[in-house]
Amino acid sequence: MKRAGALLSTWYLAFGGVLTLVGFAAPSSSVRDLLYMVAALQIFPTLLVARRINDLPWRLIAFFVAVGAFFAGEQVVSGGAPSWENPVSVVLALCGAGSLVAALAVLLRHSVPKATAALTGDAAIVALGSWIASWAMLVQPIAERSKQRALGIFLYGLYQPTTSVVIFLVVVVVLAHRSRPPAIWMIVAALASNMVGDLLYSLMDAGHLSASSERWILPLYTFGYFSASAAFLHRSFPDLSRPQADVKVDGLGRLFVVIGSLVVPVVVLALTSPNDGADRIVRFLSAIALASTVTLRVLGAVRANTRARAELLHGAQTDPLTGLPNRSVLLGHINDLLRTSWSAEVHPTLFFVDLDRFKNINDSLGHAAGDEVLVTVARRLLNAVPDAATVARLSGDEYVVLDPASRSQGASMALAERLLAVFREPLALSQGDVFVTASIGVAEISPTSSTSAEDLVRHADTAMYRAKDAGRNCVAVYDESMHERVAHRLAVETALYRALDRRELRLFHQPILDLQSGDVVGFEALMRWQQSDGTIVSPAEFIPIAEDTGTIVPIGSWALLEALGQLRRWIDDGVCSPSATMSVNVSPRQLSDTNFPAIVSEALTRSGVAPQLLWLEVTESVMIAEPELALNTLRRLRSLGVRVALDDFGTGYSSLSLLQKFPLQRIKIDRAFVHGVADNPNDRSLVRTIVAMGRSLGLDMVAEGVESVHQLQVLSDLGCMKAQGFLISHPVPPDAMRSTVAALERLGHFPGLRTSGATSSASP
Ligand code: C2E
Ligand code: MG
Ligand code: MG
Repeated sequence: MKRAGALLSTWYLAFGGVLTLVGFAAPSSSVRDLLYMVAALQIFPTLLVARRINDLPWRLIAFFVAVGAFFAGEQVVSGGAPSWENPVSVVLALCGAGSLVAALAVLLRHSVPKATAALTGDAAIVALGSWIASWAMLVQPIAERSKQRALGIFLYGLYQPTTSVVIFLVVVVVLAHRSRPPAIWMIVAALASNMVGDLLYSLMDAGHLSASSERWILPLYTFGYFSASAAFLHRSFPDLSRPQADVKVDGLGRLFVVIGSLVVPVVVLALTSPNDGADRIVRFLSAIALASTVTLRVLGAVRANTRARAELLHGAQTDPLTGLPNRSVLLGHINDLLRTSWSAEVHPTLFFVDLDRFKNINDSLGHAAGDEVLVTVARRLLNAVPDAATVARLSGDEYVVLDPASRSQGASMALAERLLAVFREPLALSQGDVFVTASIGVAEISPTSSTSAEDLVRHADTAMYRAKDAGRNCVAVYDESMHERVAHRLAVETALYRALDRRELRLFHQPILDLQSGDVVGFEALMRWQQSDGTIVSPAEFIPIAEDTGTIVPIGSWALLEALGQLRRWIDDGVCSPSATMSVNVSPRQLSDTNFPAIVSEALTRSGVAPQLLWLEVTESVMIAEPELALNTLRRLRSLGVRVALDDFGTGYSSLSLLQKFPLQRIKIDRAFVHGVADNPNDRSLVRTIVAMGRSLGLDMVAEGVESVHQLQVLSDLGCMKAQGFLISHPVPPDAMRSTVAALERLGHFPGLRTSGATSSASP
C-alpha cells in the first residue's frame, strides 16, 4: 500500500508538471481555467486515497478539502478578474488561506508541540510585517489605480499577511524536522508555487506587470495542487506530524524570517509616503500594532529566559523525586552556619535518617513503590521538623535534617524521637500499606570545631550506622570514639579483602556429641582469621563485615570446600566414623545468591563427600527478609540431598511457621537458653517447649554452648540428644581432632551423665 502510494505520488508530480507546461503553452485562458479546476477538484478524491494509504486524521483532511473548495469557489466567483473587485471572492480566498493555516497548524501541533506562545508571537510579527509591506506596495497602488477604496480592497490587503503566516509556518515545519522527508519538500513546492502565483497576481494588479503575464500565473497554482496531492500520497507524509525529538525551532532560520518581517515594513514605511488621511491612519495603526507585538514578544522571551534560568537553578539544587534540597544545598547551609558565630545556647544539629531495609521494598514491591515511599517519607519529615530546619535528601534512602537552632541536647533527642515516630504509622502506597522504620544518627555542630561540612555529615552518618548496628529503628548520637571504631572497621574491611589470598583464614572444628551413644557424630566448622601480625580476629567481628562488603561469598565458598575436604580426610584416616557429618555456617548473603546451590554441589563433587553428610547452618534472617528467595534456594539444596539446620534457634523471631514453611531438618538451640537451662526455670521450660515442638515436627536437635555437666544432664533429660560446647570440646584446629575424638570416645558416656532416662519428664 505504502509503496503504491509512493509510486502514485511520483506520477502526480510528473502529471502536475506536464499540465503546468500545457497551461503555460495554452493559447487561451479558458484552457488554463479548466486545468486549474481539474487541479483544485482532484484534491478531494486524492485526499480520500491518501487517508487510506497514510491513515491521515480526518481533521487534516477536512482543512485541506476546505482549502481546495474555497480557492476553486474563488476562481468561479471572480471568473478570472482581479479578486479585489469582488468582496465575495476575496472572502473565499481569505477562507482558503485560513484553512491552509489551520491545516499547517494541525501538522505542526504534533511535530513541534512546545512552540506555542513564542511561535504565535513570531507568526503575528511576520503577518503584521507583511501586511504593512503589502499595504504600502500592493494594496495602495491598486486602490490608487482603481480609484476605489471598497471593502474588497481592504479584505484583499488582509489576504497577503495570511499567506505570510503560511510561509512562516512552513519555515517552522522545515526547521523542526532534522531529517527532511520528500513529502516536506513537495509541500514546500506546492506552497511556493502558490505564493509566486499570488505575488505575480498582486504585481499585475498593482500595475507592475502587464496583463499578459496572467498566462504564467494560473498554471503555477495548478502545479501547487498536484504537488500538494503528491505529498499527501507519499509514504513520508505522516512523518510531518510525528513528534520531533529535541528540535531547536528557535533556530537561526526562524530568527532571520522574523527580523526580515521587521526590517522590510520599516524600510517600506520610510521610503513610501501616505496617499491620503485614511492611508496614514492605516499605516499608523499598523505600525503601532507591529511595535506592540514585538514588545510583547520580547517581554515573553525575557520572561521565558528568566523562568528557564530559575528552573535550571532549581534543578541543580533539588532532588527531582521529592523536591527536597540536595546535598550541595545542605552543605551550603552547614557552611553558612559554620561561618556565622552563634551563642552558647544554640546547638545546631544534624540528623542522618536512613530507612531500614529499603532495598527489600524496591526488590519486592518494585521501584515505583520505592519512589512512593521516598516521597511520602520526605513529606512526613517536613511536617515533623521545626520551621527553621532543612530537610535534604542525599541519595537513595538517605535524608538529612538540619536543625540550626536546637536549644539543648535534650531538645535534639526529642526531635530525633519525633523523626522516628514519623515511621510509626504505615505508609499508604498504591499497592497497599507498608511499614518502614529508620535508623537515625545525630551529630551536633560545634562552633569551635574545625571540621568541614562534609565531615559533619559524615559524623551523623557514622552515628546512623551505630543505630543500624544496634538493631535499627533507633537513634545513636555521634561521639569521637565512633570515629575510631569506623576507622578500625575500615582497616578490617581492607585487610579482609586480602585475607583469603594471603591464606590467613583457617577452620577450627567443634565436635558434636550424641549423648546416648557417646559418639562424635559430627563437627561444626568455625572460621578463624589469623592476621599477618598474629592477632586472631573473632568471626563474630569479621563475618558481619564480610557479609556487608560481600566478601563472605568467596570466603564462604572456600570454607565449604575446605570443611568438606577435611571431613573426607578424617573419614579416610579413620579419625571419625564414615557417617560423621560436617556442619558449615552459611550467611544470609550466600543464601540469597542464586548460584549458591551450584557452589555446594561443586564442593560435594570435588571433595567426594556424600550430600547427606553435609549440614548447612542458616539463620532465620533470610527467611524473614526474603522468604521466596530463601524457600527457592533451600528447596534446591534439599534436592541435592543436603540437610539444613536452623542455627541460633530461639534468639530471633523463631516463629513456628518458619519451621513448617521451610524445608529444615534440624534446630540448634541457642546457647543463651542452654546457659540457663540448669538454673533458670524459664529457660528450662522454653527448651522443653522447643524440644517438644522439634520432636513433633520430626526435627533433629542439637544444643549449642554446653558448658557444664548439669546443663548436659538437663538437656538429656528434656530429650535433646545431641550437644556441642566447651564442656565437650572447644573448637580445635584440624590436627588436634584425632586426639580430641579419641579422648571423647574413650570416655564412652559422658562422665556424670545418666543417659538411660532420656525422656522429657525432667522436673522443672
Ligand atoms: P555459631 O554458628 O552459632 O557457632 C557457635 C559459636 O559458639 C562459635 O563461636 C563457638 O566457638 C561458640 N561456642 C561453642 N561452644 C561454646 C560454649 O560452650 N560456650 C560459649 N560461650 N561459646 C561456645 P565462634 O566460632 O566465635 O563463631 C561465632 C559465629 O560466627 C558463629 O556462630 C557463626 O554464626 C559465625 N561463623 C563462624 N564461622 C563461620 C563461617 O564459616 N561462615 C559463616 N557464615 N559464619 C560463621
Ligand atoms: Mg553455627
Ligand atoms: Mg549458633
